[in-house]
Amino acid sequence: MKFCVVGAGFSGAIIARHLSETGHHVVILDERSHIAGNCHTLRDDQSGVMLHNYGPHIFHTANRKTWEYIQKFGVFRPYINRVKAISQGRIYTLPINLLTINQFFDKTMSPKEAKAYIEEKSNKNIKEPKNFEEQALSMLGDELYYAFFYGYTRKQWGMEPKKLPSSILKRLPLRFNYDDNYFTHPYQGIPEEGYTNIVSNILNSDNIELRLGVKFEDLSEDFHHIFYTGPIDRYFDFKLGRLGYRTLDFERIDTNGDFQGTAVINYCDQDVPFTRISEHKHFAPWESDSFARTVCFKEYSRLAEPADVPYYPIRLANEKTMLDSYIRLAQDTSGVSFLGRLGTYRYLDMDVTITEALAACDRIDQFLGGNSNLPTFFIDPS
Ligand code: FAD
Ligand code: UDP
Repeated sequence: MKFCVVGAGFSGAIIARHLSETGHHVVILDERSHIAGNCHTLRDDQSGVMLHNYGPHIFHTANRKTWEYIQKFGVFRPYINRVKAISQGRIYTLPINLLTINQFFDKTMSPKEAKAYIEEKSNKNIKEPKNFEEQALSMLGDELYYAFFYGYTRKQWGMEPKKLPSSILKRLPLRFNYDDNYFTHPYQGIPEEGYTNIVSNILNSDNIELRLGVKFEDLSEDFHHIFYTGPIDRYFDFKLGRLGYRTLDFERIDTNGDFQGTAVINYCDQDVPFTRISEHKHFAPWESDSFARTVCFKEYSRLAEPADVPYYPIRLANEKTMLDSYIRLAQDTSGVSFLGRLGTYRYLDMDVTITEALAACDRIDQFLGGNSNLPTFFIDPS
């Protein structure tokens, strides 16, 4: 059979690989001039540094199968994300841990003392936190909340944190020990040759025809089925409206030596217009000393306009209502399945993207084996 996969990020590449390995012909296309979607990495001509072109990407997972799968396509070097944060003229470590707490309050507390201290500061009137702000106040109290979360979150999301769901804050741990690993997953790393090399190896299979610089909208061929990893609202020509996204503007800094001494520094104060600065050679500590030059990016977040790259789905009540309408429309449409972060309008880390794509491959086999129509969604996006 002949299939079309729209989008050559992790979602599309994994589906394409699987279809090709099961004997089908696959046309995979991407409107960009490169593969790997938002995970695209490219060595900088001038400095030699491996740049993460759409923002820094650190691979982390608790899923052993996913970790083993991805390592078949390239070498991952151990990397622990240790984020620093500047707040009110002082520098700390994130996520909030015992060092952050002791430095912030100018103390030398033990884990037990710090826990009791923060419990005392937490807002106990909030029994069931209904939003980001309430969640933070009930966990941390107002001093830590205003120092590390309020300003950063307003800049990142462009709205008051009380309008955001508490689930966004739950992505970050609060620790009463000196562990400053940003992630809690047991497997963490960065590919030695970058993510684009990994995706290229996934796509290196017979029966895969890669077409770059091609929009799905401009295609006029027939396929047995389409796997669409682009934005779901775009597939339907935005006829029910545009789903909201935040986008990022990157301001590049080129200089000699070492700019900030670490990969990521968050700027938590509201009066600093950017959210963070990432220095990309520090994402590759195994080679960072070999570069005389360095490249950093300041990140500015804003609401995505139609021509912008969609980064973070906003997913508030209005967007969810619109998403539900698109889901119904999709379910009434045959011949297409929607996958990935844009196809399902969800914030997905790479490991979840890969895990979901692998699960979809299993389902594809079942459906094709049973000669029945493929599902519109492999996972409920609502
Ligand atoms: P994408 O990578 O977005 O790929 C979709 C592709 O489809 C794109 O290349 C696009 O050009 C193409 N496309 C869309 N519509 C069309 C069309 N109509 N015609 C042709 N082509 C089309 N995850 C982590 O695990 N760790 C991190 O540290 C991390 N950092 C991140 C930082 C930022 C700033 C962001 C926004 C995300 C981060 N992620 C991170 C998440 C990661 O980027 C995603 O998990 C991953 O990109 C999802 O892959 P995908 O294939 O679903 O989508
Ligand atoms: N956040 C914050 N201050 C920080 C880091 C994070 O307020 O210094 C908030 C912010 O709202 C962010 C959320 O915590 O969107 C989740 O943080 P994470 O680092 O996971 O954000 P992402 O990697 O998605 O940009």
